[in-house]
Amino acid sequence: MSIVKTKDLTFEYIRRDEDGNVEGITTAVDKVDLDIAQGSFVAVLGHNGSGKSTLAKHINAILNPTEGTVWVDGMDTSEEEKIWDIRQTAGMVFQNPDNQIIGQVVEEDVGFGPENMGIPTKEIWERVEESLRAVGMYEFRKYSPNKLSGGQKQRVSIAGVLAMHPKCIVLDEPTAMLDPSGRREVVRAVRALNQVEGVTIILITHYMEEIIYADKVFVMDSGKIAMEGTPREIFSQVERLKELRLDVPQVTLLAYELKKKGLRLPDGILTVKEFADAIEKL
Ligand code: ADP
Ligand code: MG
Repeated sequence: MSIVKTKDLTFEYIRRDEDGNVEGITTAVDKVDLDIAQGSFVAVLGHNGSGKSTLAKHINAILNPTEGTVWVDGMDTSEEEKIWDIRQTAGMVFQNPDNQIIGQVVEEDVGFGPENMGIPTKEIWERVEESLRAVGMYEFRKYSPNKLSGGQKQRVSIAGVLAMHPKCIVLDEPTAMLDPSGRREVVRAVRALNQVEGVTIILITHYMEEIIYADKVFVMDSGKIAMEGTPREIFSQVERLKELRLDVPQVTLLAYELKKKGLRLPDGILTVKEFADAIEKL
């Protein structure tokens, strides 16, 4: 069962001068076909400008295709009257948590989404509690968001989306502004939502180490899907990843270089533990 599907999805940004004449066209997404299974954890990689955010904005109906179609849970995103259902089904988390947190108190902030949906007060509080627990932020419910670290703030914004009970959450570089420990917190919370709550996750990132737990990875380049596969299949293609200007994790690179020198190591080593195990078996 697919939760997000695109067919020939193409989006062009059109630049016009003051008189409305077209000055230039950027094809940000170029004939993309995706099929994302309900409950899966999908990662989208790609260097800056490869079209990741433009793609993400289609899943939330912030943008409509220039050509092609996007379906979210079977709903065509270009149908105006479906827009709220679509946004409730596919929630969006952005790079900067400061732009998403509006409440003065954590629990209040998380309650805004369900409140706007017209959920009864008692259920709002249940959802706030369950969402904050799911991201490990329940003990901070009475805090002012200003007092939180970047990773904690981002987890609060994820809880805010979760409280709307989406089937799918799209996270557009949610860790880009965080330090390494904040990044780990957020990735751990996101994995738990997928594994425990069964929420479909679409994680856009340029940190390769964040994708090792994904079921499937798409790599974008110039608006197209340049690679597609499991993390191991993707990480096995070191030269291709370098061509696509992605930073391969140190341990994958080291295993790859040692293999080139003749050591019998498997392809696509993802973690230090796998590397150590492979070395021990030599
Ligand atoms: P990514 O998220 O992978 O960095 P984007 O989707 O933001 O990529 O951008 C894809 C392409 O579209 C880039 O060439 C970028 O310059 C262009 N682009 C993005 N947003 C706009 C915009 N609002 N107006 C014009 N061009 C844009
Ligand atoms: Mg982007």
